Amino acid sequence: MERITLFADVVVPQALPVPLTYRVPYEWNEHMQVGLRVVVPLGKAKLITGIIRALHEVPPAHYQAKYIDSLLDEHPLVHEPQLALWDWMANYYCCTLGDVMNAAIPAGLKLSSETKFVATEQQEDDTLPEREQIIMRAMRSRGSLTLSDIADVLGIKTVQVYVKRLIDLGFVKSEEELRERYKPKMLDFISLTAQYRNHDALNQLFTELESRRAQKQVDGLMVFLQQAQWDGQRLAQVERAKLVKQGVGAAVVAALIEKGIFEIERKEVGRLSAEWLPTESTRKLSDTQALAKTAIVEHWQTKDICLLHGVTSSGKTEVYASLIEDALKEGKQVLFLLPEIALTTQIINRLRKFFGKRIGVYHSGYSDNERTEVWNKVLSDVPGECDVILGARSALFLPFKRLGLVIVDEEHEQSYKQHDPAPRYQARDSALWLASRFKAKVLLGSATPSIETYWNAVNDRFGLVTMTERFGGMQLPEVVLCDIRKELKEKTMHQQFTAQLLQEMQQAISRGEQIILFQNRRGYSPLWECESCGWVPMCTRCDVSLTYHKYAHQLKCHYCGYTTAPVPACHACGSVDMKMLGFGTEKIEEDIQAHFPDVRIQRMDLDTTRSKSSHQKIIGDFEAGVTQILVGTQMVTKGLDFDNVSLVGILSADKMMNYPDFRSMERSFQIMMQVAGRAGRRNKRGKVLIQTYAPDHWLLDLIVKGDYDAFYRREVQERHQFVYPPFVRLMRITLKHKEDNVVIRAAHEVSKQISPVLKDRILGPERPYIPRINNYFLQQFLVRLDKRQESAAIKATVVHMIRKRLSDAEFKQVRISIDVDPL
Ligand code: ADP
Ligand code: ZN
Ligand code: ZN
Repeated sequence: MERITLFADVVVPQALPVPLTYRVPYEWNEHMQVGLRVVVPLGKAKLITGIIRALHEVPPAHYQAKYIDSLLDEHPLVHEPQLALWDWMANYYCCTLGDVMNAAIPAGLKLSSETKFVATEQQEDDTLPEREQIIMRAMRSRGSLTLSDIADVLGIKTVQVYVKRLIDLGFVKSEEELRERYKPKMLDFISLTAQYRNHDALNQLFTELESRRAQKQVDGLMVFLQQAQWDGQRLAQVERAKLVKQGVGAAVVAALIEKGIFEIERKEVGRLSAEWLPTESTRKLSDTQALAKTAIVEHWQTKDICLLHGVTSSGKTEVYASLIEDALKEGKQVLFLLPEIALTTQIINRLRKFFGKRIGVYHSGYSDNERTEVWNKVLSDVPGECDVILGARSALFLPFKRLGLVIVDEEHEQSYKQHDPAPRYQARDSALWLASRFKAKVLLGSATPSIETYWNAVNDRFGLVTMTERFGGMQLPEVVLCDIRKELKEKTMHQQFTAQLLQEMQQAISRGEQIILFQNRRGYSPLWECESCGWVPMCTRCDVSLTYHKYAHQLKCHYCGYTTAPVPACHACGSVDMKMLGFGTEKIEEDIQAHFPDVRIQRMDLDTTRSKSSHQKIIGDFEAGVTQILVGTQMVTKGLDFDNVSLVGILSADKMMNYPDFRSMERSFQIMMQVAGRAGRRNKRGKVLIQTYAPDHWLLDLIVKGDYDAFYRREVQERHQFVYPPFVRLMRITLKHKEDNVVIRAAHEVSKQISPVLKDRILGPERPYIPRINNYFLQQFLVRLDKRQESAAIKATVVHMIRKRLSDAEFKQVRISIDVDPL
């Protein structure tokens, strides 16, 4: 038989412009598949893990192909649709496949030379082959090892194969997990042993215990049955602590375990766990919801994408659940994208109740090992496990095979867009691409759709389904504007609070209702100013003023993290009269506490939620009514559903609306409508107060009316007039350098190159709103691309021209970042 010479194009996690081509040793020919991981030589001495993108018989034209060093997998780690997505992303977002690979694959699966590996608790035995034993010994004595350390220890070059085997066997893991702030919590759960899981056996047991006068055990059992809401059959579990809290003594629990009536199980909570059982069936849809669902399914017969525009609390989640159920019945996988998933534990819990272990959660708040676990579950495609993936943007990259439904909740959210590093992708848009590749259906959901999405719906590219009422006849909140100017004139303001807001708060508090206060700025005071000359302390690395944080007693830069002690005297005139201007969430919390000393207040912003658990605790306390007022930044707007919030206060609408960006109206509308949506209770209409200097502003008027359509019409007209998306696509090119004059010259040179090609489609170069960040001076171009096909070619040409122009020695250090569809 003739032996063919095979070549493999391999993607490595580095910013190389194209995949490199390697020779496949003959003996591997029949094992080779696209999507396998391989170890390949790169440069002089380096070995790196990559993924086979393509197999062919064409040797590279300009270099001698090196041999693939080793094969890591028997089965592909990613499939063709995922790799096709990588290609599309690299193309569309003007980045390299290596950038995409880095974003796509959990670190543990990348086996990169920088990753450190450590031994797990699991004890290996002497059945391990010799090299693996040597690795384990070295690891146990030295703590952690990188791949190159291991190569030294073994005295050979290629070690990935051994490390991979040790990972698969559970002896080794990547060190990343140790650095995780969040440690999964272990809890004890009690359940009935199998023999007592039926009514007859239980009745007999009760009689028996009573005859033996074991009254405490009888009571204990009663409490258990009550807490478990046991239906007579399935396994029901109750947390041990919960039983004890209900008055069942620890000794009683122990005795029942001893007797073989209870059994105990230690479980990780909140983490992927095979024992998750559904505890509820999906809810029956209301008429409105059922109609919406039918309409969605009907749209899907002619269009793959549908927008569900439903006001806050219209019950979108239940509609999603019902569609997920249908997709599962058809044997499909479901991808459910959420913005910043750490903030949406509520939805995860709700869907887990319906779908149990079919739900897999995947996002960056989880450790690398947990993500790897979900990845492997999806890859091995065990029926009934992890076939509904709830995740933030990176969940897109999981190795789906039979994706049938993609849901993008809160599709308008900015966090779907990755800013830094490349790939600067928009997960919603990428999900649309992925879905079309799978011929899967897509549902986009929002109470305040993005202009782009609504435009697509209005122009009949997407289906459009609307739910205008809240579930259960609950009313939408009443929105009222508070005129700060008027109160200033009448001298009724108390610090940053209008008398009107304080009065409403007082009433809500006395009725035992809850309040959310929203201010889109963290810290105590954004400006620390000299009263005599107006001097303001600035960040030494960025062109922004420093925000005072009272708790830390520090001035902080919110752009680069620089901190310094508060300056006691003015650096310009020496005056010691420094005053604070403006207010952030920290100050609001303090002032409100002073105003209502007996009320329990908590603050939710980046500073109070550094760990995942603290965030859950704040929400948990508010849900349980432990706290009565929640003060927060945008975090309080997202997907939270509270029962008892009757009042929402938006402290300053103006800053948001005045931000110099063509999207600031859209953003302000969305944020205010979303915060407002937290107000309202089952049986009582909620109220929203918006404090503003501009009560006549058209945007505020539309928020009061809750009129999305009018907002859309007005906004889209502006976008048309000033030629912004959705009428064009934008590409932002940012150049950075440590010296201002270098970056200015570079921008000028680039401009000379690309202007003849782009003509009036290019804006700039100009300094951005914040001209220096982290010691880099910035220059920006904005390119308008029309939405036809050739824009892909134009993008590529422009990027190529820029890279080429800046490859000169004098501009070598200029950094370029390309952002397609910037937010
Ligand atoms: P949205 O996501 O549109 O803001 P939710 O799905 O959170 O709205 O629904 C709002 C509230 O109404 C939730 O508390 C939810 O449990 C309840 N709800 C919605 N639909 C139903 C239903 N069909 N049966 C029972 N409760 C429902
Ligand atoms: Zn001064
Ligand atoms: Zn800074």
